[in-house]
Amino acid sequence: MKSILLTVLVACIATFTFAQDLNTAQINRCSSYEVFQRMLQSDPSFAKNQQSIEQFTQKFLSRGGTSSMRTTIGTPVYTIPVIVHVVYHTTAQNISDAQIQSQIDVLNKDYQKLNTDVGGVPSVWTGLVADCQIQFCLATVDPSGNPTTGIRRVSTTKTSFSDNDAVKYTSKGGDDAWPAADYLNLWVCKLGGGLLGYAQFPGGKAATDGVVITYTGFGTVGSAKSPYNLGRSATHEIGHWLNLRHIWGDDGSKCTGSDLVDDTPNQGGQHFGCPKFPFVSCTNGPNGDMFMNYMDYTDDRCMFMFTNGQKSRMYATLVTGGSRHSVTISGKCASQVAAVSNNAVIPNIISVVPNPVNNGSAAVSFKLDKAAQVQFIVSNVYGNTVSVISAGNQSTGEHQIRPSEFARFENGVYVIKLLANGQQLGTTRFVVNK
Ligand SMILES: [Zn+2]
Repeated sequence: MKSILLTVLVACIATFTFAQDLNTAQINRCSSYEVFQRMLQSDPSFAKNQQSIEQFTQKFLSRGGTSSMRTTIGTPVYTIPVIVHVVYHTTAQNISDAQIQSQIDVLNKDYQKLNTDVGGVPSVWTGLVADCQIQFCLATVDPSGNPTTGIRRVSTTKTSFSDNDAVKYTSKGGDDAWPAADYLNLWVCKLGGGLLGYAQFPGGKAATDGVVITYTGFGTVGSAKSPYNLGRSATHEIGHWLNLRHIWGDDGSKCTGSDLVDDTPNQGGQHFGCPKFPFVSCTNGPNGDMFMNYMDYTDDRCMFMFTNGQKSRMYATLVTGGSRHSVTISGKCASQVAAVSNNAVIPNIISVVPNPVNNGSAAVSFKLDKAAQVQFIVSNVYGNTVSVISAGNQSTGEHQIRPSEFARFENGVYVIKLLANGQQLGTTRFVVNK
């Protein structure tokens, strides 16, 4: 009996070790933090930029973060155009358009709380789950203004890449980045050493800005391999690109590190596989670690949430003045057009005061170079016209009107266009928050 038990025990240990090897030793889920540290050491401007980004973030958070914006719209406020660089050595690495689309679909679900597995969040945390209101689209306009599919395919002689950024340079066997101020660059290639992906935090060089994902951890079909075949590597890495840290605070398994987010529990170390809830560390009982957060290392099927605090931290990069704001207004994909016009292309020509409009009354200020018949068109975030306001004939110079129509606008985000003799002169975005 004893010897049978021992045999079973040995077999169990062997299996356990093997499983551990599969999950930990052969897989390097993410090297963003190592890249972050490397950049801090080697690039003084990155260190300086990160510092001011953090200051801006803390200021945004101290004012209440996204809750201070109190937008009531049910659709994404921010749309991020994506250029996917497929850098392939083998046919299998030249992943299909369908696989790329499957990844974009995952991002649009995960960043809008539309993922069906969100039901797996333990009930103690369901109140923290954020609809991040961030949407992704394949670019439809290239840097020269020509139409594009948002996908580039480049063959390479390199059999694999690492996190040394070679994949981001045509001269090093990769593919040059598109302007980082306008696009999220997403490289798909074979990463060596079991590395699934890495991202560059905000504040770094444009030439290396973006996210790299290995071709077996990208999307949900084709070459995507279990347990990393639900597109969560990109969800996780784009979190870093939007300035999120790992949920355990990157301090090994100690309890001193922080992810700089208030509503995530203090957590010892990272988790692999699919832990059972609750897993207590750092005296964070009874609920324990939030290992089902996208910023942990669990298997794709076991991570399914961002918190409101993480959303606020990401928003600090996307709002006006934020380090990623320019991407949200670049106009590089068709579905972003409405959002483009939400920020004044010519800022001084039209403005709404106060903004947010808080009691149904607001002044629209505008400037004319010559006398014209003036009209305003107000549209919602879906791009639907909600009001056409006629301001009659107006002379050259600055004007201010108080349209009565503002009183009937529901809470939300709107775009107002200034038309002079039927021609658009400028646009701006305003928020109604009664
Ligand atoms: Zn990571």
